[in-house]
Amino acid sequence: MDPLDFIRNQFAEKDVPSTAPPSSSPTAPSPPLAHQDSPRTPKGEACSICDLGSTRSEPSRLQSVYVGPNELHVIPFTDRGVRVKIHFLNEAEYRGYIPCNGDVCDACRVGYSAMDWILLPVYNPDAAAVQVLQLSIAKRPGALLPQLAPLINSGQPLLAMLQQRPDKTYSVNSMPLTHGDDAGESSIVDFLAKMNAGQVDLASVLNHLSNEDLRAIPAIAAKLKRKGFI
Ligand SMILES: [Zn+2]
Repeated sequence: MDPLDFIRNQFAEKDVPSTAPPSSSPTAPSPPLAHQDSPRTPKGEACSICDLGSTRSEPSRLQSVYVGPNELHVIPFTDRGVRVKIHFLNEAEYRGYIPCNGDVCDACRVGYSAMDWILLPVYNPDAAAVQVLQLSIAKRPGALLPQLAPLINSGQPLLAMLQQRPDKTYSVNSMPLTHGDDAGESSIVDFLAKMNAGQVDLASVLNHLSNEDLRAIPAIAAKLKRKGFI
């Protein structure tokens, strides 16, 4: 199948309920021939050099990607993401985004602001991999989501060029994919098969800190103590 047709088909199928069985793909990888059992397997644990040498048997961890000051190129292929509530920690012991721990979240208890984000899988041609784009649900002028959504909804195979401006607004441009471009077909097929099988946790790109982890940070523990939580 032509890579561009493939991308078009992904958008054409976006209204299919997520409970639908994954569509079969003619490009789905077939098992290596060396998997066939040998009647003369010697003593010891049978193994396949193809399995041992393959990176497929140990899938790499999903990576997240942000839109920052340097232009980011991504190929959207789905509008199916997840919405998460996150905190930003800027402590000496930990600096970064973490998911909120919900109703009993210690970060919420000490008054750390929580932001709503969408985690959206996209293909990053520079990493040659499906990655998880983290974007705010903010819809103010110049925000990323209201500019990116029309590109995704267009259903056209395209390269999106995303960049954060110095004033923290975003520029969103696009160009059509042309034949010969890396459209990430095989990576996307593999990813969608796993996502449809419920094997993908988009939120796994975030570092999770439990309340116990949070209480190990002195500034947070001190605030919790002052407010009577510990
Ligand atoms: Zn929280």
